[in-house]
Amino acid sequence: MRRKLIAGNWKMNGSLSGNQALLNGIKEEIGQANCDVAVCVPAPYLAQCRDSLSATLIGWGGQDLSVHESGAYTGEVSASMLRDFGAKYVIVGHSERRSYHGESDDAVAAKTARALRSGLVPIVCVGELLSEREAGQTAAVVGRQLDAVMAVLSADDLANIVIAYEPVWAIGTGKTATPDMAQEVHALLRKRLAAKSPAAAEKVQILYGGSMKPDNAADLLRMADIDGGLIGGAALKASDFLAIIRAAS
Ligand code: PEP
Repeated sequence: MRRKLIAGNWKMNGSLSGNQALLNGIKEEIGQANCDVAVCVPAPYLAQCRDSLSATLIGWGGQDLSVHESGAYTGEVSASMLRDFGAKYVIVGHSERRSYHGESDDAVAAKTARALRSGLVPIVCVGELLSEREAGQTAAVVGRQLDAVMAVLSADDLANIVIAYEPVWAIGTGKTATPDMAQEVHALLRKRLAAKSPAAAEKVQILYGGSMKPDNAADLLRMADIDGGLIGGAALKASDFLAIIRAAS
């Protein structure tokens, strides 16, 4: 039985004072969550997470990392910098990075390998555009995105990633994939993992992301291959995030 993971993606939101109120609200009410919990925050707030969350079971992480180890790459944040601040996770290949920053499947794969080499758990995002779903290309698109990552990882490394299936048309739109629609894609992703490593397929947490909210979380999280959620908007309100954590526990 895989443990569930609820990971918040704060995107480019927050302030020192606002974050503190949010983190305090989560810490005060989380109790004995029976699932893994993390927040993926803008890099300047990693130190705040370290200071605020170190004594808790809540992990923290970045939202992107450089493919390079170090050097003349102005504006980039390296895997070892994330590790310096105690990050456990890093989101890789979010659709906003793919679309606004032109991240290719190969770049996402290289970043995934870089994260693993540095001891981070990459949360690798895959997902189709609305036009691709309507053209019946969902399986081909997410399969291609996952294949690029699998091509650069050993079977052992593959077991140490997290995958987030995030249909792009559901992110921040209030439109959610139905539990059956999501389960179909999750099962397909797990089957693809199994072709390379049955052990990795059994172990890898596959999260759903895309307008997961307190009122739809339980139905999604009940599906056999949905091992948690990557939560955007609802991660910015302690009561919503906690309600999703409870649904996963
Ligand atoms: C996300 O940004 O990864 C996400 C799933 O956002 P939202 O929950 O707001 O759709």
